[in-house]
Amino acid sequence: TAKKAEFIWFNGEIMPWGDAKVHVMSHGLHYGSSVFEGIRVYDTHLGPAGFRLTDHVQRLFDSAKIYRMPIPYTFDEAMQACCDSVLKNDLKSAYIRPLAFYGDIGMGITPPKDAVCDLMVAAFPWGAYLGEDSMEAGVDVAVSSWNRLAPNTIPTGAKAGGNYLSSIQISTEAKRNGFHEGIALDVNGLVSEGAGANLFVVKKGKIYTPPATAAILMGLTRDSIITLARDQGYEVVEEAMSREFLYLADEIFMTGTAAEIVPVRSVDRIDVGCGKRGPVTKAVQDSFFGLFNGETQDKWGWLEVL
Ligand code: PMP
Repeated sequence: TAKKAEFIWFNGEIMPWGDAKVHVMSHGLHYGSSVFEGIRVYDTHLGPAGFRLTDHVQRLFDSAKIYRMPIPYTFDEAMQACCDSVLKNDLKSAYIRPLAFYGDIGMGITPPKDAVCDLMVAAFPWGAYLGEDSMEAGVDVAVSSWNRLAPNTIPTGAKAGGNYLSSIQISTEAKRNGFHEGIALDVNGLVSEGAGANLFVVKKGKIYTPPATAAILMGLTRDSIITLARDQGYEVVEEAMSREFLYLADEIFMTGTAAEIVPVRSVDRIDVGCGKRGPVTKAVQDSFFGLFNGETQDKWGWLEVL
């Protein structure tokens, strides 16, 4: 694989990127038994800072708890591994990818009682996920023919490797058909989320986003946007929404650590509002990115200086 940084943290050691290898018989490779995170480090006015690093590491441990996967490192060790992966590579801004997975624990589906996970943390530069222009111009999305996972099949509240087979179907179908991204409905036919990002709709000045029960991952960017928008005086509600609500929206935007805040300019080739980034989306983007140069006061302690 293309080398993205000099060093990588793997099972307690910092090693050269190319040395972090696993065996082809790894359980996680065969059965999708892994949990992971994506965290951004911004080059802020305070210095390089992980955005909600603690909350992300907590979600990693939460995902592992859902699957009863023992991570053989403490919370503090995992935090330190995230910091080290950035500092050892001398990065000012970065995307951090911790991954806990079952490695060489045998081929049985049920992990043996004494099995523990491997843990790796990579950090590398990663620009705007859907392209620099998309932040202003917006993206074209389509409702996917693939539904999100049913709640009694695979828990979407865990950020687990296997879940991303659903995301791959959603995003590759969208791209094959000439869209930037897909939006999935849940098994009840209500709006869920994108392949790797949550969704917000603006209608008559009020902001809507699908609730936890809509087979979403509870995004930390989603939570940050809800908090920032309310702080700016917007009314934000978590509410089930139908597909046509997207067609009649004034504005739509998607949020995620990699995606950040991306305006949606059309859904199924129907223009959203006037087909351009709207004023509420712009205001929300400004308050979010303002956190990283001090224009938005970080009242919540979200910037964690490395
Ligand atoms: N949904 C899915 C399926 C995702 O993979 C992500 C990215 N982690 C998100 C939503 C957004 O979550 P966050 O804002 O915490 O990155």
